[in-house]
Amino acid sequence: MSEREDSQPFLVFGAPAIEQDEIDEVVATMRSGWLGTGPRTAQLEKEFAEYTGCEHAVAFNSCTAALHLSMIALDLQPGDEVITTPLTFASTANSIIHAGGTPVLADVDRRTMNIDLERVREKITPRTRAILPVHFAGRPADILALCDLADSHGIEVIEDCAHAVETTVGDRHVGTFGRFGCFSFYVTKNMTTVEGGMILARNADDAGRLKTLGLHGLSRDAWKRFGDEGYKHYYVVGAGFKYNMTDMQAAVGIHQLRRIEPNLERRNQVWQMYLDALADLPVQLPEPEAPGTRHARHLFTLLIDEDRAGISRDDFLAAMTRLGIGVGVHYLSLPEHPYYQERYGWRPEDCPAAMDIGRQTVSLPLTAWLNDDQVQRVIGAVRSALGNASR
Ligand SMILES: *Cc1c(COP(=O)(O)O)cnc(C)c1O
Repeated sequence: MSEREDSQPFLVFGAPAIEQDEIDEVVATMRSGWLGTGPRTAQLEKEFAEYTGCEHAVAFNSCTAALHLSMIALDLQPGDEVITTPLTFASTANSIIHAGGTPVLADVDRRTMNIDLERVREKITPRTRAILPVHFAGRPADILALCDLADSHGIEVIEDCAHAVETTVGDRHVGTFGRFGCFSFYVTKNMTTVEGGMILARNADDAGRLKTLGLHGLSRDAWKRFGDEGYKHYYVVGAGFKYNMTDMQAAVGIHQLRRIEPNLERRNQVWQMYLDALADLPVQLPEPEAPGTRHARHLFTLLIDEDRAGISRDDFLAAMTRLGIGVGVHYLSLPEHPYYQERYGWRPEDCPAAMDIGRQTVSLPLTAWLNDDQVQRVIGAVRSALGNASR
């Protein structure tokens, strides 16, 4: 069943483009004597703030940590609700749960795959405290309208920007519209620190509070206590978490961020190669980006409708694997998972658009690591898996 029909090495899904600069910086960090949270983490925060045009950026060890802290900052009380999308990674909803809130799902738009403004409107209750949209696949959610809606109800917007480092609406980066924007630097994301994340905040108080909460609740700049300014006492001002980024991670991220634009340019080329080569196949390809926005090209998704394509999504996944191509599923909708069904009574049918997408979607490899030959291998495999190799 898992026997490979391809003699070439398996093409890893989401393999990042790592260059000599990252390797040299990691080695220099290891030799520097300061491997934990320190000057390189501060530098990545500064450069990420500059790149996104936001004054306050705080680095953490994952986007999950960033989302959790953002939810904690809302001081959710039992029964407080946060509206989010069913088409996301588990950590988006889990962050609400871990902060003591109740996640409420609003279905996505079938075309954009982003949370649907009208469905959000229907889900607002007196207990709603925030909206947590995902900029899905790198395409911006309807963020201006979501912020207006939130404002009119006196609630917050927290943006899950895990796919969307480069995404803009007008001339503004996503992550700068809501109270917080949370980014992921996981290995498969648009830039990586292996594991890592970042929060953009609107003001210094919020940024400082989250930084403290992410380092055990120690008073500000506790990481400097072993530095050349002499030993500094720290004080515990809250029951915080161990969510700090290390300089080993930041060493990778600094160079990933400096190449963020050329890497996006390469993914734009790969995207166009896929669009051109797959246009005649009986599958649904991604929608063009909306005018006045920039798509960060994180996921290139095919929707495989068995009736139309003649193969089920899961058989297609297996065929791609046999052909040596790593593929992803982003995502089975949250109500498909037993935990949420049991705890919240969610049923997939309640979010039909996310359910259908989750049961049909396949993500193809899309990173700057891919060369043209590898892209052609992916295209050949898709055509062959769909039985259209000769068309
Ligand atoms: C990857 C991802 C996360 C979690 O990011 P980590 O850095 O792995 O914790 C959260 N939300 C979405 C939409 C993601 O894709």
